[in-house]
Amino acid sequence: MKYKKNMVQYCGIKKEGSTMAKNENRPTITLVCSECKHENYTTVKNKKNNPDKMEFNKFCKWCNKTTVHKEKK
Ligand SMILES: [Zn+2]
Repeated sequence: MKYKKNMVQYCGIKKEGSTMAKNENRPTITLVCSECKHENYTTVKNKKNNPDKMEFNKFCKWCNKTTVHKEKK
């Protein structure tokens, strides 16, 4: 039982550290439907690979069709 307790504590520390590093380099962005302006999706952006505004063709449940989703300003 002593071994198991130590493992839980180690995992907790490791998880917290990796989350912080992830937020610095890969911020979460919101994708907005260009037709109805609903915020339908979120994704993680890599600033080094995608310095410009990103666009995705995704299904919008409000428009009931696939539309262009743009990064929220
Ligand atoms: Zn829409």
